[in-house]
Amino acid sequence: MFRRIPNRAMFMLRMAACCASPALLAAPGAFAQRTQLKPGWNMFSVQQDISVGKQNAVQAQRLLPLCNAPKVDAYLTELGMKLVAHLDTHGAQYPWEFHCVNDRSINAFALPGGYVFVNRGAIEVADNEAQLAGVMAHEISHVALRHGTNQASKAELTQGGLGIVGGLFGGGVSGALMQQLGAFAAGGVLLRYSRSAETQADISATQVLYDSGYDPRAMAQFFEKLEADSKGKNPPEFFSDHPSPDHRVERVDQEIEKLGGTPPNARRDSQEFEAAKREVMNLPIVKKAAPGGAATGGTISKPQAPSSNYSAYQASGYTLKVPDNWKKYGDENNLAFAPDGGVGNDSSGHGALAYGLTLGTSPLQNGDAATALDSATQQLVSGLQQSNPNMKVTRQSARVRLNGQPALSTYLSNDSPAGGEETDWIITVVRPAGLVYFVCTAPAAEFHEYNKAFGDILDSVRFK
Ligand SMILES: [Zn+2]
Repeated sequence: MFRRIPNRAMFMLRMAACCASPALLAAPGAFAQRTQLKPGWNMFSVQQDISVGKQNAVQAQRLLPLCNAPKVDAYLTELGMKLVAHLDTHGAQYPWEFHCVNDRSINAFALPGGYVFVNRGAIEVADNEAQLAGVMAHEISHVALRHGTNQASKAELTQGGLGIVGGLFGGGVSGALMQQLGAFAAGGVLLRYSRSAETQADISATQVLYDSGYDPRAMAQFFEKLEADSKGKNPPEFFSDHPSPDHRVERVDQEIEKLGGTPPNARRDSQEFEAAKREVMNLPIVKKAAPGGAATGGTISKPQAPSSNYSAYQASGYTLKVPDNWKKYGDENNLAFAPDGGVGNDSSGHGALAYGLTLGTSPLQNGDAATALDSATQQLVSGLQQSNPNMKVTRQSARVRLNGQPALSTYLSNDSPAGGEETDWIITVVRPAGLVYFVCTAPAAEFHEYNKAFGDILDSVRFK
């Protein structure tokens, strides 16, 4: 509590200095004003940011190894909320949450709506509280500037309304499908920022740190340190989601100058940070099985063969049977079945399914029944490719039947979260509820071991 008082006092003093002499603002170079930022064009509402963020946060908490260290979560929340108090949310109210992830890779991410996840690796590598505050101020700035759904809006526009985003929000081509193909529902679209978004987040974070009484240079120092430490090695995961803009450090320094220079007595460290850092360093290490080497980390391990006993599953428009040693993930709109070890995290810490079946129903965009199967299948594949740049069609769609209904069978390849390539066999059928899809996934080298199980599952499908 005591620490807040000098901050507040400092903030008031700066305000007084700036506002008491407005004439100075006009004099070029005397006191430049802080950079004004505002969210870009967005086709979604703040409420939709919150709902898609929450939906993905629930998945993240299920799929990521969490620290389960209440004191660390409480510390992150306290620090996060201290920063949020100085964040311009442009009038929006977000339900902020801060979680510690038991992953030693140096990363952090924030879902739209204010769901922030900080890897233990980022805490362990930070030299002081100001550096950790820097990473967190950067993340919450992406939320306030709504960069995730801004990007999704642009993707939707360039895709000509192919419905990838509609799917995300409408529960159609939603979570499970994107997730099993390498990212959380939104991961590919919502968490890979552009360089200009990075610059904006850096500038906003600089302002937040300054106004919260931290040394704003600490954020740039942290990024420089990450770059220096990773010379000649794999760059830290942080940079795959947050690509370094040119002149990052210079731009931060420029903003500090605009704000009036590094604040005197800026806070760098705290006892609480040291305690939280000690605690995460003592957490058990969650082993990452990485068959494809360090670049493809994850918690995938080769699962047991599919059982030849099957259990029935009742979806709203059909029934099917899956091997009884596969577990169900998600709900009706966002469903997958996978063996133990078949689901893990991809290299960015996003949930990913390497072995198993994903299924769902995607609403039809335009209602021409005669061409609906072809066009909806095409839209589904394009939407997937949008968020999985390495995904390729390896066998063009061929006509088959599923429980007597006309269907399409399409084969794709993609990066497997287990390392190497995976095969995705997609069967699509048009039903009254929309395009029903079944995605059968396994590493390419092991796909033949799953062929029979996938065939049995598809043969068991009975439409109502
Ligand atoms: Zn970023």
